[in-house]
Amino acid sequence: MMPRLSAFVLAPLLLGACTTIPGESPARTAGPDTLATGMVSAADPRAAAAGAQILRQGGSATDAAIAVMLALTVVEPQSSGIGGGGFYVHAAPDGTVETIDGRETAPAEAGPGWFLGPDGAPMPFMDAVIGGRSVGVPGNIALAALAHRDHGVLPWADLFAPAIALAREGWSLSQRGAEFAANARNRSAHEAAGRALFFDADGTVRPVGTRLTNPALADTLQAIAAGGPRAFYRDRAEALAQHVAAATPGEAAMRAADLQDYAAAEREPLCGTYRRYRICGMGPPSSGATTVLAILGQLERFDMAALGPQSATAWHLFAESQRLAYADRELYLADSDFVSVPAAALVDPDYLATRSQLLSVDNRMASVAAGRPGVPQACAGCAADGDEPPENGTSHFAVVDAGGNAVSYTSTIEGPFGSGLMFGGFYLNNELTDFSFSPQRDGVPVANRVEGGKRPRSSMAPTMVFAPDGRLVLAIGAAGGATIPVQVSKALIGYIDWGLSAQDAIALPLLFSPGDGVTLEQGSTLVTLRPALEALGHPVAVRDLPLKANAVEWRDGRWIGAFDPRSEGAAVAP
Ligand code: GLU
Repeated sequence: MMPRLSAFVLAPLLLGACTTIPGESPARTAGPDTLATGMVSAADPRAAAAGAQILRQGGSATDAAIAVMLALTVVEPQSSGIGGGGFYVHAAPDGTVETIDGRETAPAEAGPGWFLGPDGAPMPFMDAVIGGRSVGVPGNIALAALAHRDHGVLPWADLFAPAIALAREGWSLSQRGAEFAANARNRSAHEAAGRALFFDADGTVRPVGTRLTNPALADTLQAIAAGGPRAFYRDRAEALAQHVAAATPGEAAMRAADLQDYAAAEREPLCGTYRRYRICGMGPPSSGATTVLAILGQLERFDMAALGPQSATAWHLFAESQRLAYADRELYLADSDFVSVPAAALVDPDYLATRSQLLSVDNRMASVAAGRPGVPQACAGCAADGDEPPENGTSHFAVVDAGGNAVSYTSTIEGPFGSGLMFGGFYLNNELTDFSFSPQRDGVPVANRVEGGKRPRSSMAPTMVFAPDGRLVLAIGAAGGATIPVQVSKALIGYIDWGLSAQDAIALPLLFSPGDGVTLEQGSTLVTLRPALEALGHPVAVRDLPLKANAVEWRDGRWIGAFDPRSEGAAVAP
């Protein structure tokens, strides 16, 4: 668990519409000084500025979102980048929603024993993470190419310019970047290239504010800008696969063909309603949309607005609804190209209304089990709860352009600095540790078991929210592993039930209750509810949580950016 992150030290304010010095921080704007010309919200101000620059050049929301993803590869390498994958949700002005799945895939040679030790037991988590075994075939460049084909306006190469400038001319090491490098040294400094980027010769992390450069990454980005995705998935396939294979003990490993065969996938969005707001997000292999829609749908019969954000009952119900949603998620969610996932049935209003009857305002459920959401017979008995470990990392960004097109994109390398392997100036993900390490439980196959070519289950929840009149009002998402759907649900309850702005809804404290206990966000006002929650029967812990949400909101005739006050996030207008 990362420690709480200190507030970002703002550079002298440079308005988003002005020229921004590469690597310096533009103004963090969230408020009435933003116009209806578009908006970018990201977890790092330099990345948000890259997106705003692309919007100023006449780029679409998709163009800008790709530029943000690339810039984050440079300035927030601990969280996301071209060495990882992501999910992209696009909303057109007419309300049409499309999604692209750029999730990493397991190498073809991977199988059920991938994360089992010689004794047949699941290997220790960190043994699995560091090195080549955890690396999935990166999906972000393929995702970007597909999104650009469908919704790009500017030339592909133009989207790379801000990131290349940052990597070549340098950016200032942030507090958060330095803390991550120090706290995850086993990954950040696992290879010489990572050590050289973040550490002085004596092994100490470079001071906050140090100007870092990454010429190797600039060269890689330049090549992909010029050559397109082919430069990544063909020209570099052999070298990348060899780098991963050399760090993978055993005979099975990633091969060049795994990269050559990778394809991002256009998938149907998963949509539902909450109090007449239409909410759309990412279906399998992500558990994002099913979990958000279940948490909300099960709360629909309660008057959350009347209870309000100070009410122990409201947070109790939120906790209980999470328990039901996570029981379903654990059992059913996986890559639907490999196993049957009853995604639509899990968010069916009748099913959620039935599940909701298990909730009580004055009692904690003694136990919770997954439901039977019209499970097809073929799948009954073919899924079992896995043992996926907790995660933290990732970056969410949201962009709206002047034409009203919106993108909600979550990008990840899974944990801080991914697998610790670095290739061409970027960290390679450890996404495969999002699979269940155990392929079966009590003889029943786990839905999210490792299989060659399969995508590991995700928690990422890039989301679009439409008001009852059909207008897009919110593009939102978060980082923070399994807390992601809860962060998004909490923000939507704040926004829809409690009438908060996106900024205030993101800032609301978090209660996380995916299993048998409730975790309250340390240092938050929620801690005062501990006695009341305990009186309702909840085992309560207080802990720091890895929270980082970003959003763009339509309010009072303009787009406003929102970012998590716990993070270094920023919103920048074009
Ligand atoms: N890899 C995780 C997922 O896809 C996200 C990691 C994180 O945000 O910490 O669900």
